[in-house]
Amino acid sequence: MKENYIINGRVVSGEIKKGVEARLKELTGKGITPCLATILVGDNPSSETYIKMKSNACRKIGIKSHKYHLPEESTTEELIDLIGRLNADQNIHGILLQHPVPSQIDERAAFDSINIKKDVDGVTSSGFGRAALEVETYPSCTPAAIMELINHYNLDVEGKHAVVVGRSPILGKPVSSLLLNRNATVTTCHSYTNNLEGILKQADIVIAAVGKPNFIKGDWLKKDAIVIDAGYNKGNIGDVDFESCDGIVKAITPVPGGVGPVTIAMLLKHTVEAAEKQSLKVVSH
Ligand code: NAP
Repeated sequence: MKENYIINGRVVSGEIKKGVEARLKELTGKGITPCLATILVGDNPSSETYIKMKSNACRKIGIKSHKYHLPEESTTEELIDLIGRLNADQNIHGILLQHPVPSQIDERAAFDSINIKKDVDGVTSSGFGRAALEVETYPSCTPAAIMELINHYNLDVEGKHAVVVGRSPILGKPVSSLLLNRNATVTTCHSYTNNLEGILKQADIVIAAVGKPNFIKGDWLKKDAIVIDAGYNKGNIGDVDFESCDGIVKAITPVPGGVGPVTIAMLLKHTVEAAEKQSLKVVSH
């Protein structure tokens, strides 16, 4: 695929991180080091990898990260108790609960116990609603990353038909709202959608958030569609069959190197912003 058809997430991530570094310098000059608490429940190897990637990204840029690892058999109450302690800890600015959590835990209750001021991953019901209603908040990191890519590449959204494939609370649903807020006409598809291929054929913008490797094929797409593949499947494979899009799409994100690095950069940005806001509050009291 020609170079100019690739939406390069590493470049966008690098730019976001430059901004984060400058803000970090200001904060550390005031004696504040932002700190992200990461919570892993159980021993899911993919979740462990994601937490490690996020902690490494924090460390590299100069954000502290504290990892809390609860056993597989933990209860909802135990998890909420930990989150409560982190909410109250002034040295913790952001809280990231890695999901999925083991099935005995009420994930929604656990997410919703995170203080909105520390919800840097946009997982609370309140954060979701605020993002949809354009009230200041930290939107979920992957949807926020998708919007950063759109902004960076100046991609035309207004009046366009955006088709989001997937409706999860952290990805498909919130990115649908963010696109709607930018005046796109949005269709959100899911596993019950009839005629997915026919709907995709009408899409100016496709957001793939399915979790199925190489699921969306190039010949399902309209000529010159813009494709943002948020999928990240085993073996570094996206949800869109990248090769089959050659000669059809106008622009596409690769996997890896597309949405993933920007998602991590957004987490860093949100954590620094949370530390800025929380430090202001402490000073003004
Ligand atoms: P999820 O919770 O499993 O949701 C998948 C969605 O796809 C569901 O809404 C499901 O519909 C829909 N779906 C499944 N099969 C379908 C089909 N045949 N046709 C149409 N829709 C179908 O997954 P997720 O957490 O949103 O993640 C989606 C992908 O994004 C995964 O590959 C994940 O690894 C990746 N991801 C990447 C990042 C990143 O930083 N790049 C971050 C988060 C997630 P129903 O609702 O009807 O079940």
